[in-house]
Amino acid sequence: MRVEWATEAELGTPYWWDALAQPAPGEDLPDTCDVLVVGAGYAGLSAALAAHESGARVVVVDAAEPGHGASTRNGGMFGAHPRLGWGALSKRFGAEAADALFAEARPALDWAKDLIAREQIECDLQETGRIQLAYTPAHFANQKTLAQTIVTKSDVAARIVERADLGREIATRKYHGGLLFPEHCAIHPAKFHQGLLRAVRARGVPVVAHAAVTGRAADGAGYRVQTAKGMIRAAKVVLTTNGYTRRPFRWHVARVFPLPSYIIATEELPRNLIGQIAPGRRMMVETRARHSYFRISPDGKRVLFGGRASMAEIGPERSGEHLYRTMVGIWPESEGVRLSHSWRGFTGYTFSHMPHVGHEDGVHYAMGFSGSGTVMAPWLGAKAAYQAVGDARGATAYSATSLGRSWLHPGETPHFLRAANLWYRQVVDRIEDWQADKEQ
Ligand SMILES: Cc1cc2nc3c(=O)[nH]c(=O)nc-3n(C[C@H](O)[C@H](O)[C@H](O)COP(=O)(O)OP(=O)(O)OC[C@H]3O[C@@H](n4cnc5c(N)ncnc54)[C@H](O)[C@@H]3O)c2cc1C
Repeated sequence: MRVEWATEAELGTPYWWDALAQPAPGEDLPDTCDVLVVGAGYAGLSAALAAHESGARVVVVDAAEPGHGASTRNGGMFGAHPRLGWGALSKRFGAEAADALFAEARPALDWAKDLIAREQIECDLQETGRIQLAYTPAHFANQKTLAQTIVTKSDVAARIVERADLGREIATRKYHGGLLFPEHCAIHPAKFHQGLLRAVRARGVPVVAHAAVTGRAADGAGYRVQTAKGMIRAAKVVLTTNGYTRRPFRWHVARVFPLPSYIIATEELPRNLIGQIAPGRRMMVETRARHSYFRISPDGKRVLFGGRASMAEIGPERSGEHLYRTMVGIWPESEGVRLSHSWRGFTGYTFSHMPHVGHEDGVHYAMGFSGSGTVMAPWLGAKAAYQAVGDARGATAYSATSLGRSWLHPGETPHFLRAANLWYRQVVDRIEDWQADKEQ
């Protein structure tokens, strides 16, 4: 099965970037600040807004153009609940922390929606709901337990969709049921990022592009921070580099690894085809380890289809082929549609599957969103900034999680991802396919 590429296909460039304005002219690096935010994605920009609101003089620096990271490349699925079930969380972090993590899901989502309203960010926010689709009967049984926990332990709405009712959501027999989050939303991720950037700059906070932090040293009560655009003195440093973290932040590099996630966009499709294959127009994710996620574009004309094309870095043609095959496996009707875009970004993954807000070696940080950061990155970025300036609003259950280490990742380069990729492809995916097929 071969991919048909559109004549003007953009390989490596996110579909979302088609809607972006030219980058604003660069700003100079000031000599000093109270809070230096490193990384200008959702987390960094939100941290800047919070620190500025608390009265600090803030500067944001990014190694590339602001938004170069995952914040303008993601699927735009907008929701929050812990990645792990209550049992796993309580085993790792204690029952009290598990309760608090579940309880924080609702305030985080409400706050993020309010941020969009408050800052008048036009990012195609739609209350589509998000459905998680069970690939095997065992996954569906787990969803039933999870739905119960979510409803008991948080104010997030969640309900089970039986297999017989799935046809209203999606035209495929692949799945055994689903878990629906009716209040989760869809956004245009790059427009959300641009809106945050505009809000930060409107407050007079410099956001300096191409100013990678390359070193830092203690300087009295603060730091001298070396960047590609010169040196800046900062009383506090807030690190929000997630899946793009690199030296000199070695402690974080060893704990948050860059796991690529790949996406394709189809060309504009006939309206009746979209209505036929995705009648629910929800944000859709599946439970299998391939972790496919898919949605209709905000203008209602294309399918955007993402997932684990590879755990290692591969080019956009190859990843496009992988994702196309997975998409056609779910929707045979999509065979032959042409692809207009194929791109990737890096999620910042942790061995605990959970983000963390903390302080280490003089650096406050919020990272490790593990593929779920459209709500959590701005929410926890603000928390890290409040903690840095000693504002009580920095309290969060995510201070009780941790960025654990693993023997799999002893150095700075995540070599283990190549072996993990092989393991998932040759063993895990095959077992899941076998379990799913035998119950069809
Ligand atoms: C393909 C893909 C699909 C996804 N889909 C979804 C989804 O549908 N829903 C969801 O909730 N989440 C999703 N995510 C996750 C979400 O996009 C991220 O969790 C979120 O964007 C993280 O934001 P951030 O600000 O922490 O990091 P990023 O947006 O990644 O920003 C980090 C920034 O740090 C900068 N940087 C790195 N090192 C330095 C340095 N030394 N000095 C200065 N700057 C530096 C980088 O240049 C980069 O701009 C997806 C991620 C990917 C990659």
